[in-house]
Amino acid sequence: MLTIEIEHVNIDALEKLEEEGLEIIPKPAVLRTIKNKILQKQYYDNHQIPTSPHVIVGNRTDIAEHEYMLPAVFKTAEGGYDGKGVQLIKNREAINDVHSAPGILEKMVDIKKEIAQLVAVDRAGNTALYPPVEMMFDQVLNLLDFQLCPADIDEKTLWRVEAIARSVAKNFKSPGLFAVEMFLYNQGQVLVNETAPRVHNSGHHTIEAHACSQFDMLIRILAGYPLGDPHLLHASLMVNIIGAEGFSGPVKYEGLDKVLSMENAFVHLYGKAETRPGRKMGHVTLLAHQQKNLVKQAHEVRKTLLPKA
Ligand code: ADP
Repeated sequence: MLTIEIEHVNIDALEKLEEEGLEIIPKPAVLRTIKNKILQKQYYDNHQIPTSPHVIVGNRTDIAEHEYMLPAVFKTAEGGYDGKGVQLIKNREAINDVHSAPGILEKMVDIKKEIAQLVAVDRAGNTALYPPVEMMFDQVLNLLDFQLCPADIDEKTLWRVEAIARSVAKNFKSPGLFAVEMFLYNQGQVLVNETAPRVHNSGHHTIEAHACSQFDMLIRILAGYPLGDPHLLHASLMVNIIGAEGFSGPVKYEGLDKVLSMENAFVHLYGKAETRPGRKMGHVTLLAHQQKNLVKQAHEVRKTLLPKA
């Protein structure tokens, strides 16, 4: 059998392997839907899953015809990854700077919180839900900065988030692990932003902080074992370790010993040889059992552990 760790793969090849009888989790049809942002939006619409108001556009001229949508966000259908395929269009003039390609023009949503939830689905359609996590973003680099688990949301919002995330995952009608990214806006309303059909950065903390990690869960799904226990052992805060400003080249880590000596900190470096400003080099998971003020500690970790050239 086969699984994937990134959805930007040759789907024709996967479909051929599937035809030849190889089991692929998640199903290639799901990858085809998710890989293309237009198809992904249509999937949400077809299953009555709430998402930001949007129109499908073929090129830049089409965007100009939908000026009433501004301020808006344009997302190219294919080829975007980690912010590169997403462009903010504040006004009419800004349309000229947009890459002319098929995509989705989405109304700019006044986001109160960005939430993600991991949902595991086995072959029989049983589900296991990890508690939702809350993202805190670096406004300048547009990179995920800290990630809090569980998300700080009220019970009713939690129910809504869970129902929507489960519905997104189940309607794919495929076993797999799905990370559903959502926006919270006015009065706890929930919009689905996008879904990743794989182990995901929003599940890094599950390695130390949950009974069954996302990797353990995926292996269980693949092997046909019962789903694992997603429940939280400790609240956690995940800190991204990103390349320091002004340094590019072979990486050296500053402050590593200090962070390693913190009892509740778990360091993961990705083994990248070169650092660049803003490049994701690793992450540190902080567990709440030894420390109540995790946000303060997270800032300390970010300031201490610097990948420099
Ligand atoms: P990518 O696939 O590159 O990660 P996303 O669709 O997740 O792109 O968008 C990246 C970020 O842009 C989101 O995390 C969010 O902060 C912002 N964003 C995306 N869509 C909207 C929207 N409709 N309104 C406001 N902000 C948005």
